[in-house]
Parts: sequence; structure tokens; C-alpha cells
Amino acid sequence: MTDERSPIILWFRRDLRLSDHPALSSAIQSGRPIIPVFILDELAEGLGAAPKWRLSLGLDAFSEALSQTGSSLILRRGQALETLRNLVAETGAGSVFWSRAYDPEAIKRDKHIKAQLTAAGVEAKSFSGHLLFEPWTVETKSGQPFRVFTPMWRAVQNRAVPTPEPAPKQLIPPAVWPASEDLTSWKLGREMNRGAEVVRPFVQPGEKAAHDHLFSFLGRVANYPGRRDQMAENATSNLSEYLSLGEIGPRTIWHVVQNAGQTGASGTEAFLRQLVWREFAYHLMFHFPHLLTRNWREEWDGFPWNTDPELPEVVAWKQARTGIPVVDAGLREMYVTGRMHNRARMVVASYLTKHLMTHWKIGMDWFADCLIDWDPAANAMGWQWVAGSGPDAAPFFRIFNPQTQQEKFDPNSSYLRQWIAEGQSDPSATSLAYFNAVPRSWGLDASDIYPQPIVGLQAGRNRALTAYETRKSPVRN
Ligand code: FAD
Repeated sequence: MTDERSPIILWFRRDLRLSDHPALSSAIQSGRPIIPVFILDELAEGLGAAPKWRLSLGLDAFSEALSQTGSSLILRRGQALETLRNLVAETGAGSVFWSRAYDPEAIKRDKHIKAQLTAAGVEAKSFSGHLLFEPWTVETKSGQPFRVFTPMWRAVQNRAVPTPEPAPKQLIPPAVWPASEDLTSWKLGREMNRGAEVVRPFVQPGEKAAHDHLFSFLGRVANYPGRRDQMAENATSNLSEYLSLGEIGPRTIWHVVQNAGQTGASGTEAFLRQLVWREFAYHLMFHFPHLLTRNWREEWDGFPWNTDPELPEVVAWKQARTGIPVVDAGLREMYVTGRMHNRARMVVASYLTKHLMTHWKIGMDWFADCLIDWDPAANAMGWQWVAGSGPDAAPFFRIFNPQTQQEKFDPNSSYLRQWIAEGQSDPSATSLAYFNAVPRSWGLDASDIYPQPIVGLQAGRNRALTAYETRKSPVRN
């Protein structure tokens, strides 16, 4: 039996917000004191350089937002179960609440923690909030998870999404606060090196900034269906980094955008459909966790991928010096802003996996290190989709032609001018920033000559097609 006055530990993870937070709402409804906690455990320590740095900005902003409610974010470093046990012992907390995560490692950790805390007489409760629909609640007519996007979209597009709760004005503090570590002492930006300074002006962390982005996007949503693929335009919402850290909840976005559609805004359905791609990625990861580690489609196991991340072609790709301008532009956008346009993500991923025949895992891991909007499900699904080994419903082997992609989605080369300095008489500040964002050890300079293609478009395409047609039958145990 839980003591009705004992504090509740609210274990925040990738849900750094106060509104639309079912775990927090439930804690508030109990009327008990709340102790918000973030634990730098082994999973958080294992984040790539850019997402870890972005996490530190998010924690800082969230800590400030909590202090406005009379509360405080307690920071602890260590193994999650041990840290929670210590906090329970120190504070007399009777309950630990958290928002569910859906990647296999977090599920394993959370199940274990729930069992151990429960056995020790501490109430351990997990809540929804990271997704629109819990993965086990969306299924085909025959009771299976969806493996193809469009039928899933049709199944959920008219479903009711719970109305989000507003942010609380005040949170009840505990009688005594437990000690907290100092965020700066964690040095979460260490691996970003000098890149942090370049990316920082492009980032506005926190829940308020997330809501500002959402409402500013509403003014542009009519352009979304027609312009979202144009790489130089600001036609998308830029909400991914906020969703990734949970600085905004998908249910909030859903309701705001749906209401705008119901009151006359156009373009909203195309946007909500895209938001359901995120959902699709999470449901796939939940039901088929191997999405993160091996080919989702078994028949791809026989494809002769290059698996050497140090191959000169792969190094040139990482350094954004493939000699294919639109590929290099996309990667440079990532180094300077921490993000990359979706169309460019598809083009750079296709070039790596098809023209360079390099395993999608190498690209996926690289993005996991470099993207501030890194998301385990969207990243893995995106890579596997482009590689061909994922849930792409196209009945053919898709190879993006970077040149035609550029002609179509950057017809006046604005995106190229924005990101490629070499050869320009008056290069843009953003294109020059790339040289300051990347590691000095790469030895790059804006006065360098732009490289020749490392693998020509036709040659790379032919090589990939031949490999695809002659790939070996897979053997999987
Ligand atoms: P908008 O177009 O405004 O879309 C709104 C939201 O819908 C996005 O914020 C995102 O949450 C979701 N969404 C949109 N497109 C997709 C998609 N194709 N798949 C899944 N969700 C989508 N997205 C990430 O958030 N993190 C990643 O690590 C990531 N890695 C990717 C890797 C590859 C190879 C590819 C092809 C795509 C990847 N995506 C990833 C998906 C997509 O590129 C981004 O979500 C999108 O560019 C973010 O910009 P936005 O917020 O302006 O998107």
C-alpha cells in the first residue's frame, strides 16, 4: 500500500515537458509531492555526440521551466535502478512514474526496474505520451502489426487521440529536496568539440520554443504538401528535435494541426500523415526490434554490402566530399545545423547504400552521432527504407539519382549555394561554417578545390543493380 503523502519520483527521460504528459498529470492528481529526476544512465551515456549535446540544452531549458513551477530537476549519474533505489531511500518516495520508451534496450531496462521496485514495495508505473497510439493498439484486421504505411495511415487517420493536459502552474515540492549533480559537470557536449559553437545558433531548446515552432508552422502549413520536398525552403515544421527529446508531445501537435484543418487551414492532412510516419517507425521498432540491427527484409541478407567504415569512399561521404554536390550539401547542412532536410536524407542515404554499396548500419550510426533530432525508430526505418531492406512498398529496386533529385527539389541551386562554398566567388556564411564545424583533423579548408566524384553516378548505379540482381540467397538462423 502506497503512503498517500509520500513523494512520487517522476523519472524524466525523453519527455522533457510539462504539458501533454500523462505521467506528470497522474502524479499531480494524486496531490502528493513530486520529485522530478533525470538519470544519466548507461543508455543516456551511450548517445551520439550531437544528440547528447542537444540533451544537455534540453535539460537546461527543462530545469528552468520546472523552477518556474516551484519545483526542481534532480540530476543523478549512474545505473538507473540503483539510482532510483537510492533516491527512494533518501526521500521516502512511495512511487516512481515514467513515460514509456519503445526501443528494445529501454524496454528491457524498464521492465527490470519495474519488477525490482515492485518487489521492494515501491509503486512503479509507466505511462503513454511519446506516441499518438500505443503500438499494441493498432493492428490489421487479422490482428497483425502493420508492415506497410498506407494501410496504417488509413486505419488511424480518423481515430480519436486523447486530449493533451495543459502544463501545471505549480508542482508540490517535497519537504526536503535530495541533492542534485551539476549539469555542466557532466560535460555532455564534450564530443561535439568545436562543432557545438557552430550548431548552437540554430538551436532553440525547450518546450516553449517547441510550441513557438508549431504555431509558426501553422502559418505555413498550406505550403506543406506542395513545397515540403524543396530542400532550400523552410516548408516543413522543424519539430523533429523537439519530438525526439519530448519537448513537445505528438498528441499536442495532432490536436493543434487537426483543429487548424477543421477551421479551414489547408495542407494539414499531408502533415498529419507525415506525423504518422513517425508512429509507423515506432510501431515497427516495437514489434520488430531487429529493425535497429539487421535487415528488416530477410532477402537482403545476401546483398554484398561494404561493411568497412574506413573505406576511402565512405570517409569521403562522411566528410561531405563525395564530389556529388547535392550529397555533400545535405551532409554539410547536418554538420552546421545538426539537422538535414528529409529529401536530402534520402539522397545521401541512397548514395551511400546504393552507389557506394555500403551497409545502411554505417550510415545509421553516423546519423546517430551527428543529428540533434536523432530518433532511434525514425533513423533506423529511414535508413532501411532507403536501402531497400526496410518497409518500402515499392515493387522495384529504388536508386535515387542525385542529379535529377537536385534538379527537381532544388531547381535554382539555392540549396547547393547555401552549403557548398568551393568554387563560389562569394560563398554564403552557412557554406563556410561547415569548415569550422567539422573536426580539424579532417584538414579541410574553404580554399580547397571541390573534389571530383568518388564514384560516378552511372557507374555506381550499374554496380548496385548488378549486385542486387546477383545477390546470394540469404541464410538466417
Ligand atoms: P516535417 O516534415 O515537418 O514532419 C513532422 C514530423 O513528422 C517530423 O518532425 C517527424 O517526427 C515526423 N516525420 C516526418 N517525416 C518522417 C519520416 N520519413 N519518418 C519518420 N518520421 C517522420 N527523423 C527523426 O526525427 N530523427 C532521425 O534520426 C531521422 N533519421 C532519418 C534518416 C533517414 C535516412 C531518413 C530518410 C529520414 C530520417 N528521419 C528522421 C525522418 C525525417 O527526415 C525527419 O523526421 C524530418 O526531416 C524532420 O523534419 P521536420 O520536423 O521539419 O519534418
